[in-house]
Amino acid sequence: MSNNQPAKRRRLSDESVPRLREAELRKIQDLPVWEARKAVLEGICSNQVYVIVGETGSGKTTQIPKFLHQSRFGKSKIICTQPRRVAAIANATRVAKEMGCKLGGLVGYAVRFDDTSTHETKIRYVTDGLLLREAVADPLLQQYKVIIVDEAHERTLDTDALLGLLKRMQRLRKDEFHIVLMSATLDAGKYASFFPGAEIGLVQGRQHKVDVMYTKQAQESYLDAALTTVLQIHSKEAAGDILAFLTGQEEIDALCNLVKTRGAQTKGAHGQEKLQAVAIYAALPAEQQAQVFHPAPPGSRKVIFATNIAETALTIPGVRYVVDTGVVKQRSYQTGAGVDLLAVVPISKAQARQRSGRAGREAPGKTFRLYTEAEFEKLESSTTPEILRVNLAAAVLQLKALGISDIRAFDFVDQPPLPALVFVNGRTEQQKQAATQAKQRFRRPQGDHLTALAVLRAFLATGKGKRGEWCVQNCISGRAMQRCHRIFQQLCTLLQAMKLPLERLGDTQDPEPLQRALVCGLFLHAACRQSDGTFKVIGTGQEVSIHPSSVLSGSKPECIVFNELVFTRRNYARTVCNIQMSWLIELVPTYFTKHIPR
Ligand code: ADP
Ligand code: MG
Repeated sequence: MSNNQPAKRRRLSDESVPRLREAELRKIQDLPVWEARKAVLEGICSNQVYVIVGETGSGKTTQIPKFLHQSRFGKSKIICTQPRRVAAIANATRVAKEMGCKLGGLVGYAVRFDDTSTHETKIRYVTDGLLLREAVADPLLQQYKVIIVDEAHERTLDTDALLGLLKRMQRLRKDEFHIVLMSATLDAGKYASFFPGAEIGLVQGRQHKVDVMYTKQAQESYLDAALTTVLQIHSKEAAGDILAFLTGQEEIDALCNLVKTRGAQTKGAHGQEKLQAVAIYAALPAEQQAQVFHPAPPGSRKVIFATNIAETALTIPGVRYVVDTGVVKQRSYQTGAGVDLLAVVPISKAQARQRSGRAGREAPGKTFRLYTEAEFEKLESSTTPEILRVNLAAAVLQLKALGISDIRAFDFVDQPPLPALVFVNGRTEQQKQAATQAKQRFRRPQGDHLTALAVLRAFLATGKGKRGEWCVQNCISGRAMQRCHRIFQQLCTLLQAMKLPLERLGDTQDPEPLQRALVCGLFLHAACRQSDGTFKVIGTGQEVSIHPSSVLSGSKPECIVFNELVFTRRNYARTVCNIQMSWLIELVPTYFTKHIPR
């Protein structure tokens, strides 16, 4: 197998992995899956698709591949997918230790640019994206007897694409093979019904009691609140490490640094003098990630600042306290910008529970939710699968590479929506008419951006309690509106930080500054009208028409900029703004003096 890993970086597999001590090995056998070992093996062997549901920490990821290897699948290859690189690496390393082998021996991992597996490897932990790419060369994944899709509840785009692929494989492959889906939540019924004949097996968790604390008031800054709470836990609470969920690298690094300075001045309770901060997020190099698993030095307490990768995929021993900021950075499309955007959004109730659960793995624990109980009640019950919220371009290309030409007919657990609109289109003729009328009410002659802004303005002008009703009346998706609102607030904060005046933002009496700003951002997507009514993209010469969903469809602007091109029967420009051609040369002279024919 290939290994494109740059030679300079030290590979984890180069280290000899010391086998665990006897006492630790015995502890493993206390994990809940060991009690269910026989049932799990029977379930997998007697069903082509078997869904295993068990709480985080019950031993699914590390133990079940091992059980299979030690049963009649000893000679076969077993593959176990993880939604993230970190998880593939950490779990393979752990299992290699448990089995007393080197990484790349019996147990290995493969993630993009780093493949430790060899011909000896029988248990292989990989990212789901990697398995998808392997399927390009081997569409039926013939080399594997057992394919385990772990963390199926996370519903990443790659997992969902993989599930569709496995279903196709189930139809086409004639030899004996088994698909195992593992999940930490009970959404499992959904996958079970997706695969004909699938059975579900439950592994009882062993969760200790976790006290959940809420803040009395909403917090202005979750970062300030997180730091204060961590320091308070350190100075007041009994021994035990702290796991704090933040949204990304910058925040995590900043808080680690603050703890280094402020933590040194905070005296710990119960003789734990020092507070040691460690970080874990996806972009951190593997060696540094491995640090979170090391116990804190004697006499100190560890605080782990993590993204949601520590929510389910990774087990960090020693944690008794969880600090939950209630937010996560999530990739989403549909933001009005036409591009994938990583935005900080509230977590779902299911995520909040997963986070809390991390405090009660080994002993009773406490969770500090940095939001009010009322705020918790307002959270969505579960997270929207990625496939329903992101730009599918990359996934579609990948499926095409797998020979699946008609993506619309491809079987997904949740069918992705046709291009989602900020307006709900409606199914019946009557609903469609109502939606068209609603759109007309907000229509701005400058185009879709200003129309969307007018919608947002009207939404914000409506009293908080009446916004739901307002959305229904105007055929507007309430969820999308809430997300727009959050992004709007985020952008306002950015503008304030840059000391730009906010009063004129969205002044529909004077839309020109906004139109000009759009020209600066979207100049690569500027197009001029031709005599036949179509448009020509100035830089590339590509011919496009205004998408029928645009408020400018049917009107005849001279010159436009647009967010994105969509290809259906013809090239369409979507999310369009009407502009003056003279602005192009005025605002982006270096580009347009070359391109505009005079
Ligand atoms: P699940 O997949 O059900 O969430 P895992 O198999 O990941 O459970 O983990 C089971 C248990 O194994 C954990 O609760 C922990 O005690 C132990 N464990 C897993 N990974 C590690 C690790 N890297 N270091 C120490 N203990 C670990
Ligand atoms: Mg797991």
